[in-house]
Amino acid sequence: MQNIDIIKKGEELHKLNYEELYSIISSSDADQELFKAADRVRKKYVGDEVHLRGLIEFSNICANNCLYCGIRALNRDVKRYKLSKEEILSLARSAKKYGYMTLVMQSGECSVYEDDEFCEILSEIKSMDFAITLSIGEKSPEQYAMYKKAGADRFLLRIETTDPELYQKMHPNMSLENRMASLRYLKAAGYETGTGNLVGLPGQTDSSIAKDILFFSELGADMIGLGPFIPSPGTPLALSKGGTFIKALKVMALTRLLIPDANIPATTAMETLQPSGRMIALASGANVIMPNVTDESHKVEYNLYPGKPALHESALKCRDDICKKLLGIGRPVSKDYGFRKRGFR
Ligand code: SAH
Repeated sequence: MQNIDIIKKGEELHKLNYEELYSIISSSDADQELFKAADRVRKKYVGDEVHLRGLIEFSNICANNCLYCGIRALNRDVKRYKLSKEEILSLARSAKKYGYMTLVMQSGECSVYEDDEFCEILSEIKSMDFAITLSIGEKSPEQYAMYKKAGADRFLLRIETTDPELYQKMHPNMSLENRMASLRYLKAAGYETGTGNLVGLPGQTDSSIAKDILFFSELGADMIGLGPFIPSPGTPLALSKGGTFIKALKVMALTRLLIPDANIPATTAMETLQPSGRMIALASGANVIMPNVTDESHKVEYNLYPGKPALHESALKCRDDICKKLLGIGRPVSKDYGFRKRGFR
């Protein structure tokens, strides 16, 4: 089958097999058709509205050593921080003023708060009338249940790569099985569950990327956040070649074809590699943006990779700039919580 026909099939049936995905990923002859098809599927299933999720990077302390990540434990150049409960709640109050309906709580992989205290923070945020997303790495099933009870609604846990060998190389002392098991626990615990991958990791093949996309679909992910790998100073991959914007965009667009009603963010890493990258992503299948609400002094220390946009700008300016750009492309800002609206399967 020609790539153009594969895309047509994906748009109509929302089903593509490994060979078909591989054929699209490994060639560039129908990229523009793919982006247009993903845009149509996005419009049909989740509409024009863009959901804004306010992101709080509440700690950069991490116990893991993912080879690509700027805040890995062994990176001694990072000034570590943990926001106090009061600081988090104050950011949440600002986020409320800015009109955000969802707060995303993100951190390194480390329990910087005791569970009781973390649950208190979640309950207080919940009482301000937010949907809450966690992005805090792997926890125990008991902790997932506890946080859910305290008010968390969604959980983002990227699989990063489903290639067992590459996963092992990139994540010392971690295991792909544990990560997959965590995703299954999260679903069973009733979270809206998000995953995603890094596109362009050293040693990653197009074949393994095709399998990543099949994994998102088989898991029944509610949200898929993905982006290009960007080499980060102070990591073992500092001098490696990074991923490309276009490949990450293709993986995102293919994911939209396969999971038409998912929430898919236009990620910050895409904006880092390409000016207006997030707007391009919104025109190629994405329907979510996660503006940063972390204060300027801390967000510079949450340095997963270099070149993050708007690093020295206030949360208010980040929001205003994004809203202005959305207006420019005719995409309204959603006023609801933005839970997944199932329109397929
Ligand atoms: N610690 C949490 C989440 C924080 S990091 C967890 O493990 O889930 C959020 C995401 O940033 C990661 O899932 C990873 O995909 C991405 N990331 C980390 N380093 C990166 C880099 N160098 N380039 C691009 N994305 C990166």
